[in-house]
Amino acid sequence: MSAKVETEAERARRLFAEYLRGKGHHVTKKRLFMAEEIFRLKPRHFDAEAILELLRREGRWREEFDRFPLSRATVYRTLDLMVRAGLLSKSTMDEGPARYEVKLGRQHHHHMICEGCGEIVEFVDWGHEHLVRQAAACRGWQFVDSELIIHGLCPRCKGQRRG
Ligand SMILES: [Zn+2]
Ligand SMILES: [Zn+2]
Repeated sequence: MSAKVETEAERARRLFAEYLRGKGHHVTKKRLFMAEEIFRLKPRHFDAEAILELLRREGRWREEFDRFPLSRATVYRTLDLMVRAGLLSKSTMDEGPARYEVKLGRQHHHHMICEGCGEIVEFVDWGHEHLVRQAAACRGWQFVDSELIIHGLCPRCKGQRRG
């Protein structure tokens, strides 16, 4: 019996395949490969274009990318499916395009974004979590997810504005 332990990337790929199959979506090589690569490379707060660029430069199929390219449509569609499968979270933190990050296996967290330099800082806040769950519950809603984004100025940018 093989004692091979499934890596996180392999697990993401397996769960994604199960999700796609379960929902009657096509289980394509490119979709599964993309899921595995995103979990291997673990980009933080990336938009779709940045993920496409990352896969082109650092993905395991970079050598074959020109022969078997990933279309923009495939990237956007796969990201969307990965969000629905619970593998990624999607957030619009600023006026820019939606940003994605790995959700499966990570602690639920929130973001602070600096209006000056665009730096994104993550934080965990159970107090807020409790509050929104209560807000939903007392209106008879079933809580699914919530997101807190703080827009502000990081200490560095705050100092510059003052000077
Ligand atoms: Zn800043
Ligand atoms: Zn984050």
